[in-house]
Amino acid sequence: MEYRKLGRTGLDVSAIGLGTEYLMEQPQDTVLAVVHKAIAQGINYFDLVGPDPASRDTMGAAFAGRREQVLLTAHLGCIERGGQYAVTRDPQVSEDFFLDYLRRYSTDYVDVLFLHNNNSREDWERLTEPRGLLDLARRLQQEGKAHFIGLSGHNAAVALQAVESGYIDVLMFPVSLASHAVPGRGGLQDACVAHNVGLVAMKPYAGGNLLRKEHIIYAEPYQMGRTQMRGAPTRFEKAVTLTPVQCLSYVLSQVGISTTVPGCKNLNELAEALAYRHASEEEKDFSAAFPAFKDSTSGQCVYCNHCLPCPLEIDIGKTLSLLDEAQRQSTNALRADYEADPVGHGARPLSRRSLTELWADYDGLPANAADCVECGDCVERCPFEVDVIAMMREAVQVFEVGPA
Ligand code: SF4
Ligand code: SF4
Repeated sequence: MEYRKLGRTGLDVSAIGLGTEYLMEQPQDTVLAVVHKAIAQGINYFDLVGPDPASRDTMGAAFAGRREQVLLTAHLGCIERGGQYAVTRDPQVSEDFFLDYLRRYSTDYVDVLFLHNNNSREDWERLTEPRGLLDLARRLQQEGKAHFIGLSGHNAAVALQAVESGYIDVLMFPVSLASHAVPGRGGLQDACVAHNVGLVAMKPYAGGNLLRKEHIIYAEPYQMGRTQMRGAPTRFEKAVTLTPVQCLSYVLSQVGISTTVPGCKNLNELAEALAYRHASEEEKDFSAAFPAFKDSTSGQCVYCNHCLPCPLEIDIGKTLSLLDEAQRQSTNALRADYEADPVGHGARPLSRRSLTELWADYDGLPANAADCVECGDCVERCPFEVDVIAMMREAVQVFEVGPA
């Protein structure tokens, strides 16, 4: 299993985590089998959103004796009312459900406490007003019951505001092939990198729609992180059937992603997700399906390495990924901010990885951009019309020549 840093929390999270919303509805023996198998296979990040007491008991039993091996999340403001899921902003009701969570999971703390399902600016104002849920989360943090504070939501503009506020350590947001061209998603990912906010990609299968065999599929706005939460679903026409491995491969190749939480409600679905770990590059390749989702993405590298082999053995995807990351972190504004306070940059480090680390990664590559002989083989093979030669020149400028 690959592990990645969860932003400024410093936690090491498995690249594949587990979403448990549908698992919670399954019989106890299925829940235990899936959770135990997941842990045995290296998954350590579990998203636990369900407020239903019986489901909490079942899930809690699955983690008995294994608490130290896992990172557990809870969602503040996610409650049950009249036997049904509901969202509240009432601090007392939210705290009661949270304390019930700790009891039923037999634990003293959660690793990440999410402010649950924030999708509008008005709701953000309410969450952050004095004695609102953010204040409650901070108190729970001071009491040691929550180690870090996160936010979950489905609206890119609102999530961006939260990331830039400095109030949250982790963001949980929909990231999938279906949302590749959604306005604002790229900027949101960049902001997570710049503010060192861990990014948990939910809905990697767009609510299961991406895995449907039909060639015409639809995804709801909330499954894609669209700014408009309500409205008609987006229609996609895809030429091939996608696999879980391809969907996860896409998500994990995107900028800023710490982990993704596919929902697995049985051992088969878990195995399909875990197959990512040993999949060949061919099995991971999502490029044949990409045209259906790539509106307005032409010319942007998605780091798929479909353009290899390079005769000079340049790892093109990795080189361009480092270039993008370095350029995002080298904006004038960020540099000015950093230079004003290089040691602490306020309470937070500048970025997920320091520029020094990026340079070291680049230097560690077996071949560098300067080795490019501009043969153009990769440009012909790239399905996304990336001008690799121009990007290699930029990489030389950034990593080897430096600012003018
Ligand atoms: S240049 Fe094209 S083929 Fe190569 S990694 Fe980037 S998107 Fe993929
Ligand atoms: S153009 Fe450069 S990066 Fe692309 S295949 Fe040729 S040598 Fe490799």
